[in-house]
Amino acid sequence: MTPTPRHEGRTALVTGGSRGIGRAISRRLAAEGALVAVHYGHDHAAAERTVKEIIADGGRAFPVHAELGVPGDADALWESFDREIAGQDAKPGLDVLVNNAGITLPRTIANVTEEDYDRLFAINTRAPFFVVQRGLPRLRDGGAIVNVSSVTTRFAYPAIIAYTMSKGALDTFTLALAKELGPRGIRVNAVAPGFTETEINPTLRNPEIRRAYSAESVFDRLGQPEDIAAVVAFAASGDAGWTTGQWIDASGGVRI
Ligand code: NAD
Repeated sequence: MTPTPRHEGRTALVTGGSRGIGRAISRRLAAEGALVAVHYGHDHAAAERTVKEIIADGGRAFPVHAELGVPGDADALWESFDREIAGQDAKPGLDVLVNNAGITLPRTIANVTEEDYDRLFAINTRAPFFVVQRGLPRLRDGGAIVNVSSVTTRFAYPAIIAYTMSKGALDTFTLALAKELGPRGIRVNAVAPGFTETEINPTLRNPEIRRAYSAESVFDRLGQPEDIAAVVAFAASGDAGWTTGQWIDASGGVRI
């Protein structure tokens, strides 16, 4: 018996869904039957490309635009979502929200400026907070929120101290939100990637750095966006129906 695709009939929004891990999540959720809102901040062409790839694979998707980390970002995102979904053959609202968009800051404490810090937290922490707050009336009961965290909240990593703090706050947000939304049957989990091959870390082009990051995993390789997307698709699905408020490692066993 072929199982029904886990996300059939559902609508999902993936922030930063046009490239890297977000693109893989968008493609995976669409392959499992979801209509996917592919959110992007700047790169319209990348969002169009991801939407086209999904449609070419027989899935359904549409782009949603909003720059995050600026005042009014969450409202702009939902206004764009509402406008775009009105043109789709779908009911308004959504079932799955994936807070994936994020930036890094490869600086030790001595080198972080106030501006760096504020921008980092505005994108990685404040934006998901208000995207959820303003999205809750649209999120259907029984739905799921997945916050993309980082394995670096599990150990000390001073080279990117402010980044790890921004994701640590997201982990705490996940826990509190899971309790708050339980009565609505909405599950909230964090998925924590390890060293993953995307454009967020240009130093990965350096063979020595690649080797060093690969060696952090017990499998001696970098994670691929698809490795993370598989865990997010699970966390967002009914298969994880008895799991909420959890931090799910998707790092290939980094520093276990
Ligand atoms: P990426 O740089 O390829 O993707 C980041 C996405 O976020 C992009 O789509 C980008 O457009 C979007 N984004 C960034 N700033 C934005 C803004 N101001 N407004 C709107 N959108 C914005 O990197 P990635 O590796 O795919 O990162 C995805 C998530 O995974 C991030 O939250 C990142 O912190 C997390 N993560 C990545 C790794 C890794 O090694 N790649 C490890 C742990 C966690």
